[in-house]
Amino acid sequence: MKPQQNSKNMLQQIRAVMAGNADAKDRLDKLVEVIAKNMQAKVCSIYLHQADGFMELWATKGLAASAVHQTRLAPGEGLVGEVVSSLSPLNVENASNHHLFSFHPETDEINFLSFLGVPVLRAGQLLGVLVVQDDKERLFGAETVEALQNVAMVLAEIVASGELISLEELSEAEIHSTRSHTLHGTSIVEGLAMGVAVMFEPHMIGVSRIAEDPEHEIERLESALDDLRKTLDRLFMGKGHAFGEPAREVMNAYRMFAQDQSWFERLCKAAKAGLTAETAVERVRGEYRQRFLAARDPYLRERLHDLEDLSNRLLRHLGGVAIARDLPENTILVARNIGPAELLELDRSRLRGLVLEEGSRTSHAAIVAAAMRLPVVGHLLGLQANVLGGDTILVDGENGQISIRPAVETENSFIERLRVRRQRRATFAKLKNSPAISIDNQRVQLLLNAGLGIDLPHLEETGADGIGLFRTEFQFMLADHLPKQAQLIKLYAEVLTTAGDKPVVFRTLDLGGDKVLPYVSHAQEANPALGWRAIRMAIDRPGMFRYQLRALIHASAGRTLRIMFPLVSTVAEFLQARKLLEQELARLTRFGHTDLPVKLEVGCMIETPALVWQLERLLPKTDFISVGANDLIQYFFAADRENIRVSDRYDPLHPSAVSMLGQIVQAAATHNIPISLCGEMAAQRTDAAILLALGYRQLSVPASAIGPLKQLILSLDIADLSKSLAKWMAESNPDIRKRMRQFAKNANLAM
Ligand code: PEP
Ligand code: MG
Repeated sequence: MKPQQNSKNMLQQIRAVMAGNADAKDRLDKLVEVIAKNMQAKVCSIYLHQADGFMELWATKGLAASAVHQTRLAPGEGLVGEVVSSLSPLNVENASNHHLFSFHPETDEINFLSFLGVPVLRAGQLLGVLVVQDDKERLFGAETVEALQNVAMVLAEIVASGELISLEELSEAEIHSTRSHTLHGTSIVEGLAMGVAVMFEPHMIGVSRIAEDPEHEIERLESALDDLRKTLDRLFMGKGHAFGEPAREVMNAYRMFAQDQSWFERLCKAAKAGLTAETAVERVRGEYRQRFLAARDPYLRERLHDLEDLSNRLLRHLGGVAIARDLPENTILVARNIGPAELLELDRSRLRGLVLEEGSRTSHAAIVAAAMRLPVVGHLLGLQANVLGGDTILVDGENGQISIRPAVETENSFIERLRVRRQRRATFAKLKNSPAISIDNQRVQLLLNAGLGIDLPHLEETGADGIGLFRTEFQFMLADHLPKQAQLIKLYAEVLTTAGDKPVVFRTLDLGGDKVLPYVSHAQEANPALGWRAIRMAIDRPGMFRYQLRALIHASAGRTLRIMFPLVSTVAEFLQARKLLEQELARLTRFGHTDLPVKLEVGCMIETPALVWQLERLLPKTDFISVGANDLIQYFFAADRENIRVSDRYDPLHPSAVSMLGQIVQAAATHNIPISLCGEMAAQRTDAAILLALGYRQLSVPASAIGPLKQLILSLDIADLSKSLAKWMAESNPDIRKRMRQFAKNANLAM
């Protein structure tokens, strides 16, 4: 019999067991029997994840029946523990020889050599482990692994439905908790929101899992996929345009995924094996999820968001599930992940916030959410297990945390924060058109960090003095192919036109490290942050760099072109990059192009400590410099601020860092070279105040920081703070942050 036929038969038998009227325990016992028989294995066992984190044996065919509910494996224990940790199948020839094997005498397990365990997952959440074992020393075949995963998929739905097992006994009991709960994650889009939870992840309640007629399920899949593609085309023609070219590119990459033949083939294979169309979608989603999550490549991980989005959408087209079309007022959307198209489709006027079990700052959804000004908190472990639709949720995008079913006092103080925030926004809006001038009459330029067309409206909204850092790599990372020259020129020209008289600094491609392009092959590096990135790639393989330079030159026809280079570590590198730019200009002139920039300003980012010791030689060769403090401080302390184990060692206000930042600004002043600082620290008011005291007068920050910084500057006597800072720095071991906070309090600064 063909393996798929086999799998189909087994699923039919499981269905018969479930349809019978035996009690829950008998049905569970029959299930393991059916699975063992069909898998031609001596043993089949089901372990379920308990509220205390242990994996408990709930049913077995082949191990000692008395071990049921007696055998409990601690988190990480044994081969079952390994399946739990890896969330993927474990296929072992001889279990007792395996270094992780943990023997529980009550099971009489000693005679069984081969072991195959697969996780029982539902919406990415682990419910248990399904195991088959045999007395022969052998590896189970790929088709068997696949078939057992299909069964696990069905089992997950059975467990979650409570048909067999009382959920109270399992960790799922947490779902029904009514306690208030705070979850800590990461802020993805800043802001505060309060509202009611709407679960985005479709739950397939009431949908059958085992197909009666696989051919019919395949037809359903085909037709749903067809509908899905049509909807995407309509969406693409419609709202995708509302957010400009980058959003359109996001959508394009996403549409291509929907056309992906291998996705469809995987779906059909699962349906042929006897799963319903809906269950097949979940099954394939789980498979891709594991594969993408294992990838270190952030681009692939972003594709995972698209897949989640498409899977949800396909489920809706299958008619099995639905997210409320009519969102309640004050909706807080709760999801594992969400794709950009899903977000664009929702009614923004009813949406207050978005909370994600996963999510990332660079995800497509984050980019769209930021454009929608929707507060987002992500990386919330256990989110979906702790929230029920209708729960009140407070989204704190300032501190990256959420409160679920908050206590009255928490809710009241949050409402107060919302009120204050609204007031502050109104104040910032009023300040929009006034320049940032300190009490001692120092004019500070507040510039914007941007990277996509959707950031452009922020220039007008915030009244920023220009764009101090335009990160150009996003445009390259969003597409599945190298963006066309014409597209690049269009975006760059749009940026310059929107900015009008205000200056714009384009930072050339900062690729490599974690930022890899799907359409460019790259070698895995042991230490990507110290590897072949940014200007190093541009100089060694100038093809793409020159391609971008040409687009920047054309886009700046008749205007000033300001360009700077990332991650320069020697003066020679800067000169090489500058030469490539000048050669490109000369070449275009030679070929008779007249549509060239009227002026060129070439700057250098200071992002490596090595360059700080070359300023005397560098500054005479540059038109301006910009301190990329994110990278500079990370390389200075050799500490990655995204790595929580070392992030407290990354302190831009440590006296050593303050001293270095001071040296840079002084050197620039001596050489009369304009200097800005564009790292994240400039957006933090305590840090920004220190930068001002050191002499920085141009800060480039995300849009949300412009108003708060302006308010700070208007209340600050910079000269006075400079004097204090000099005194603090003369102490043997000053805590600059603490001193600054005290100063702010005494001076009544707007912090
Ligand atoms: C920086 O390193 O401070 C910087 C602005 O560049 P990015 O954050 O894009 O690396
Ligand atoms: Mg940088």
